[in-house]
Amino acid sequence: MSIEALSVASEAYPLVKTGGLADVVGALPPALKAERVAVRTLIPGYPQVLKRIRRAEAVHAFPALGGGPARLLAARAQGLDLLVLDAPHLFDRGGGPYAGPDGGDWPDNSIRFAALARAAASAGQGVLAGWRPEVVHAHDWQAGLTAAYLQYDRAPRPATVMTVHNLAFQGQFDRRLLPRLGLPPAAFTSDGVEYYGDIGFLKAGLRLSDRITTVSPTYAAEICTPEGGMGMDGLLRGRGDLLRGVLNGIDVKVWDPAADPLIEAPFSADDLEPRARNKAALQARLGLDADPAAPLFAVVSRLSWQKGLDLLLEALPVLLAEGGQMALLGSGDPALEAGFAAAAEAHPGRIACVFGYDESLAHRIQAGADAIVVPSRFEPCGLTQLCALRYGAAPVVARVGGLADTVVDANPMALAAGVATGFQFAPVNAPMLESALRRAAALHRDPEAWRRLQRNGMAADVSWRSSAKAYADLYRELVAARLA
Ligand code: ADP
Repeated sequence: MSIEALSVASEAYPLVKTGGLADVVGALPPALKAERVAVRTLIPGYPQVLKRIRRAEAVHAFPALGGGPARLLAARAQGLDLLVLDAPHLFDRGGGPYAGPDGGDWPDNSIRFAALARAAASAGQGVLAGWRPEVVHAHDWQAGLTAAYLQYDRAPRPATVMTVHNLAFQGQFDRRLLPRLGLPPAAFTSDGVEYYGDIGFLKAGLRLSDRITTVSPTYAAEICTPEGGMGMDGLLRGRGDLLRGVLNGIDVKVWDPAADPLIEAPFSADDLEPRARNKAALQARLGLDADPAAPLFAVVSRLSWQKGLDLLLEALPVLLAEGGQMALLGSGDPALEAGFAAAAEAHPGRIACVFGYDESLAHRIQAGADAIVVPSRFEPCGLTQLCALRYGAAPVVARVGGLADTVVDANPMALAAGVATGFQFAPVNAPMLESALRRAAALHRDPEAWRRLQRNGMAADVSWRSSAKAYADLYRELVAARLA
């Protein structure tokens, strides 16, 4: 039996991306096709999205949505079957998906993403001629109100799934917006959209969806605790039997070291020798010393408190004392940028930083670095360590969330058993990171052991295959329950 699903999110790679959410939303539909699930993906009509869709067909008109007329456009782009919410008064502006050019959140984000959810709910109710999805899958707070509209409309509705990609972003807004969002007063209860006296978009999705998923089993457990629950743990514990952790994958065609047009020299687990050329090219490009023996540690990340990169700043003296080099690609927190810029200035040839977002450099770093450092304080799944495994760069990671689930620590037992793929440290602090960096540098001095570690990592299945099956099973379960 095939299933029709609607996926709704605020970003989808490669049309619009600010983080891992886009990767997941872009990669899951093609992977689900193999599981006989047909997915249409609803995203906002930002300028960069409208520019990239061709032969779009208007399939529905909303006379008034979020304070203006809007349309749903159907289009195919980059292998995705898209529905694009064309609402110029909400989405046709410069800046990013969530913030203006000055970096501040758009003041009408509540209205913008409520409109996205409203459109998703309407599509879920069958307003598009000839198409009615059996499952609506909402991602993160921007899509959180979808389940609320479906609940309070009192119309026949599809099954609903809410996926949390990062519980830190919750979409909390003033209660006085309730009528403007088109929600009835009855929705403002703790069993509905009310969240600590405000309206909680993510909270509504978590409370009202039929199932909840998040992006790793360990994160699913962490968010049910007061330490990791960010205010939602009570609700999540209460609905724990409906919560599941499904690991993300990566697009193994986009991330394929044997056929990556962005890197200097293709390589594979069976033919690792060319990898050295990628390291040399990376060192040359970043102005690092041409030293094949120095362990090259790298970071590709948003620079934020979550990512724990202040701990890496603290640990740099140890990294350097071990003979290491460090390359960082990232942008975000100005204080972190300043800290890394100062470190690079103090250690030319040993530390290099590129501040910004650069997809092609991210590939070159994965192909050329010896290790990728991910010292996150919390990490729902994490994608950079999955890319690192596939590219033969050893992940050095905090033992939290998806990082704990995807990296096998090179402890003596795992090394002896031949299953180690990287290095984990816990608790998440600078001394423990330092000790992981020391362990990595020590293993790197043993080329044969290091190659084994690389091969183990490259053999790990980081594709979407098994996760797509888990989502398809979940959809099938829900559909079967409704038919029963
Ligand atoms: P998050 O979604 O919290 O930012 P993830 O690890 O889940 O973290 O996903 C981040 C994605 O964005 C990865 O695909 C990573 O390679 C990419 N990325 C992050 N920062 C940069 C950057 N500065 N340049 C290029 N790619 C980046």
